[in-house]
Amino acid sequence: MTSYAEFHHRSLHDRDAFWAEQARLVDWHKPFTQVCDHSRPPFARWFVGGTTNLCHNAVDRHVPTRGGQNALIFVSTETDQERVYSFAELHAEVQRMAAILRELGVKKGDRVLVYMPMIPEAAFAMLACVRIGALHSVVFGGFASVSLASRIDDAEPLVVVSADAGSRGGKVVPYKPLLDEAIQLSKHKPKKVLMVDRGLAPFARTAGRDEDFAPLREKHLAAQVPCEWVEATHPSYTLYTSGTTGKPKGVQRDTGGYAVALAASMKHIFLGQPGETYFSTSDIGWVVGHSYIVYGPLIAGMATIMYEGLPIRPDAAIWWSLVEKYKVTSMFSAPTAVRVLKKQDPAALKKHDVSSLRALFLAGEPLDEPTAKWIADALGRPIIDNYWQTETGWPILTICNGVEKLPSKFGSPGKPVYGYDVRLIDENTGQELTGASQKGVVAIEGPLPPGCMQTVWRDDERFVKTYWSSIPGRQIYSTFDWGIRDDDGYLFILGRTDDVINVAGHRLGTREIEESISSHPNVAEVAVVGVADPLKGQVAMAFAVLKDPGQADTPEKALKLEGAIMKVVDEQLGAVARPSRVRFVTVLPKTRSGKLLRRAIQAVCEGRDPGDLTTIEDPGALQQVKDLVGAR
Ligand code: AMP
Repeated sequence: MTSYAEFHHRSLHDRDAFWAEQARLVDWHKPFTQVCDHSRPPFARWFVGGTTNLCHNAVDRHVPTRGGQNALIFVSTETDQERVYSFAELHAEVQRMAAILRELGVKKGDRVLVYMPMIPEAAFAMLACVRIGALHSVVFGGFASVSLASRIDDAEPLVVVSADAGSRGGKVVPYKPLLDEAIQLSKHKPKKVLMVDRGLAPFARTAGRDEDFAPLREKHLAAQVPCEWVEATHPSYTLYTSGTTGKPKGVQRDTGGYAVALAASMKHIFLGQPGETYFSTSDIGWVVGHSYIVYGPLIAGMATIMYEGLPIRPDAAIWWSLVEKYKVTSMFSAPTAVRVLKKQDPAALKKHDVSSLRALFLAGEPLDEPTAKWIADALGRPIIDNYWQTETGWPILTICNGVEKLPSKFGSPGKPVYGYDVRLIDENTGQELTGASQKGVVAIEGPLPPGCMQTVWRDDERFVKTYWSSIPGRQIYSTFDWGIRDDDGYLFILGRTDDVINVAGHRLGTREIEESISSHPNVAEVAVVGVADPLKGQVAMAFAVLKDPGQADTPEKALKLEGAIMKVVDEQLGAVARPSRVRFVTVLPKTRSGKLLRRAIQAVCEGRDPGDLTTIEDPGALQQVKDLVGAR
């Protein structure tokens, strides 16, 4: 058996041979002629000359050998539905959806925006898109009209696939009115809207634009739509994520590199075998949902559970009952979900046999030690932290137990994953930090391995400027996370270097929230910061300067205005982005050159020392924040 150190070393120093070997885990229609074209850094093109198809690898290729085995297991504790699709049934459903998309005019390279709850049709739509070479752009169902409109304008979809409603905690959450509003707001108008009617919420149809899925499905029951063989470098999808500026970035992913990266990760990291069951509790609107609800497990020939509902409804044992029922071998969740479970009756975890689980993988936000210890004890199964980003599509740091069983360390996601040349860089000098316990920016020397983002959708310049130019004197990919390394080569993540916050594992840009709050007619200026929270990891806290302070000069008026501002955020961005508090100040802490002192505000909110304040314009401004937070 190779040691992990050798495996990782080989992935970087015998890169092409290493990845050519991994590429055998997927089917190619035409073999590639070059493993990695890095002639135009920082852009990397993987498996050049090869043609393949993601849907073929996820679905078609399994039909002859495991057509009758479970592929997609849909469980909704919201609508009390449980429906299992075999690979053969999934194959048929995806072809029906592909035929419908074709009928609506979708061709290779076109974009299809998917704005859907966690229902099987969402997965059919994603798979159908890549089947015909169209790009999907899934927008998380928790986002509201303004967020959705900005994504429609950027992706310019020909078709939007949506549904009447989702459901959360037994409450129907209509989608269609938000979609209609978004289309009204957007400059780009999709030609068609394909509506899955779940019968949850009646909705208005726009004649000539809106089509119902059910009759079209009937019409295409026997559809046979062959996979379109696309170049390995053909984009498979875009997925929007937040950064420092208000405008979300369309992370663009390729086809061949992504297929290989996921197939390899299922083997080396997630320990998945064909015929087994994978359960990721994420949502298809996030990158984990793309990689580890839909594509990764299916590419590996595994069944994947798609779960609509809360982790504690009908009770805190629901997830573990699914683990037992479907003999789940790999499970993927987020620390926030575990913290939610931790508040419930611990007996829930003992009610079911979870011995089928090889491991529970956790990602998306820092895994604190008490949470890790609690779940490890309660579950009695290994807990594997893994650190990555929407941009990379699969883990950057973890323990690759499929290669060598290395010990985990509390607080660390692990070591650099094969393919990633991870460095710690001094943010001011650009020098590499090689010693233990030195804090630096976690950066990756190019080329990024297969599966990572190719570019920012339609904006190569932004890709280069944002990710590869933030460290002085070096063209190196910045993760925008701080990290330190210990003597054994384990990395620890210490939080973001930019204005991105992480609320319950959801990545949000504070600038987006600020822009939304600023649209309230009484807000002159606002600062939003992420503040540590015992349950959600972080929450957003807003401090606003009012045009008419008289509207908040009593506690009652302030509370009313706070509610009205939160409603603006709910309506524009969605409840996920709603700040936990909006407090009113007369001035914001800024430097003399007018830069907002966000880090100082954050420190004060967290009860920490705000650090060097020699450049502050008005020290009284920070005192106002202190007084408000102290009075919390
Ligand atoms: P997203 O693009 O939504 O997946 O968010 C990526 C960001 O989440 C990273 O840049 C980190 O700040 C944070 N993150 C993800 N996984 C972890 C982890 N295992 N430990 C600490 N932070 C994490």
